[in-house]
Amino acid sequence: MVLHNSLPETSERPEEMPGIGIGQGIAIGPVIRMPDPLPEPAETASVLAVDAEGVRAAEAMTWVAADLLARGEKAGGAAREVLEAQSMMAEDPTVSEDVSVRLQRGVTAERAVFEAFAGFREMLTDLGGYMAERAADLDDVSLRVIARLSGLPAPGVPDPDYPFILVAQDLAPADTALLNLDKVLGLITRDGGPTSHTAILAREKSIVAIVGTPDAARLRDGDEVIVDAANGVVVRKPTTAQKGEAQARIAARAALAQAPIGPGRLKDGTPMPLLANLGSADGAAKAAALGAEGVGLFRTEFLFLDSALAPTIVEQQEQYERMLHAFPGKKVVVRALDAGADKPLAFLNDTHEENPALGLRGLRALRASEDILREQLTALANADAATDADVWVMAPMVATVEETEYFVALSRELGLKTAGVMVEVPSAALLAHHILQHADFASIGTNDLTQYTMAADRMLGSVAALQDPWHPAVLRLVAEVGTAGRALGKPVGVCGEAAADPLLAVVLVGLGATSLSMSAAALAEVRTTLANFTLEQARRLAELALAAADAASARRAVAAQAAEYLT
Ligand code: PEP
Ligand code: MG
Repeated sequence: MVLHNSLPETSERPEEMPGIGIGQGIAIGPVIRMPDPLPEPAETASVLAVDAEGVRAAEAMTWVAADLLARGEKAGGAAREVLEAQSMMAEDPTVSEDVSVRLQRGVTAERAVFEAFAGFREMLTDLGGYMAERAADLDDVSLRVIARLSGLPAPGVPDPDYPFILVAQDLAPADTALLNLDKVLGLITRDGGPTSHTAILAREKSIVAIVGTPDAARLRDGDEVIVDAANGVVVRKPTTAQKGEAQARIAARAALAQAPIGPGRLKDGTPMPLLANLGSADGAAKAAALGAEGVGLFRTEFLFLDSALAPTIVEQQEQYERMLHAFPGKKVVVRALDAGADKPLAFLNDTHEENPALGLRGLRALRASEDILREQLTALANADAATDADVWVMAPMVATVEETEYFVALSRELGLKTAGVMVEVPSAALLAHHILQHADFASIGTNDLTQYTMAADRMLGSVAALQDPWHPAVLRLVAEVGTAGRALGKPVGVCGEAAADPLLAVVLVGLGATSLSMSAAALAEVRTTLANFTLEQARRLAELALAAADAASARRAVAAQAAEYLT
């Protein structure tokens, strides 16, 4: 005992490890690390004939493809799509051919499979953005095939008989999809950006997660950690006081989730519609059950990320109708394909760009292929006519008044009655008073607006500290749009991740937002928080944020005043 108490201070001191928090959750528990990946198969000569190795490789690839499909069916939702895509990777004829060619050297099937997948991984990584983030998916397929060939268990999540915090290099979709949420209290990954599959699935499943935490390499099995996603930090060996505070926050969040579901409104009764961000109709029922009053951002490009050719009008209409049917009589804001940068679409982005976030993306790419834009708007107008949702359409990445006029005119020509633009580029925010004379509404995309205001790539962990929508520079631009909306009587929504941060949501309302759209998992907390403040208080909080010199001071000033309002 005496010995224990005299342990050096340093070994007991809490250590903070910054990362990218997904959502607003917090969890506490002991660490369990994912087992080390299988070792690289040695480059030894096979004792079998080339043909026999070929049969083994083919059997293993087919088995893994079927296994991934079965896992996808069990998981459902967005996970099913991810696992189906992985299953296709396992059976990709180009990979199989590459394996056959490599077998001719007399190596084992394990080695040939390893090399073939590694080659494709390199190709994906070179493509960057969304494609590079699929590299983890490919690695997982490769490991599964090699495990099958070696007669070893497939790499996967440990399953102890107590709840734990899972720590991994990155998590394969197959693992994220099937996480046992009764056991996995939280998730920490060393790799992965805010748009990696781990992040997307963690958001959808409301898993408390922090990605892009390089320091997590130092975590050991059994270490007690706090996973504070709201503040983007992992605390290793927390103090008793830190643990107490974390437990209180966990209890408060659990209570929030039980709060009655109703339409969003402020304390003084001001309605503040709370809408969902969705990438396909799969999450629609869940969003509606969680009280989404419609859809504030339907990311249509998510439907076609794997399509080599532009989808037909009929194909699109079918997808759009599925979504609209889920929200009868409700507003559904459909965004025209936002292709480029982190979400390239093969049929819209075919040239290499040094700075794709500043390139031919969003409306610029659509305009360069106007036939595709016309087809999308036509499909949407048809779906609108066939359903009774209230369809609004908007253009992504609008930078000028002229682009606004172009998009609104084309939407009307093709039969859509409500057409607006996203405000994601500082130029559009600064000229909102002109833009809103042409557009029926504006929707502020704070993810890109922050990226472009702070000149900080949203995909890069190294500049994550600058990607903070609390930054007063970003909020001043939001205020420009809010003021213009109020002056012209036009709706101004917010559909970036900022709307899912409960206190920031109050500030956004104070800056003039007339609706907020977020991932469905965030609705309960935002709804409850908004109900604590009047419009006048929200405006006062917004003023405090605008007057701050940096994001941290804005957060601090608003939190202090909000606490005072609550007492
Ligand atoms: C945004 O930029 O804030 C936004 C909502 O669009 P996306 O995240 O799809 O770029
Ligand atoms: Mg955007």
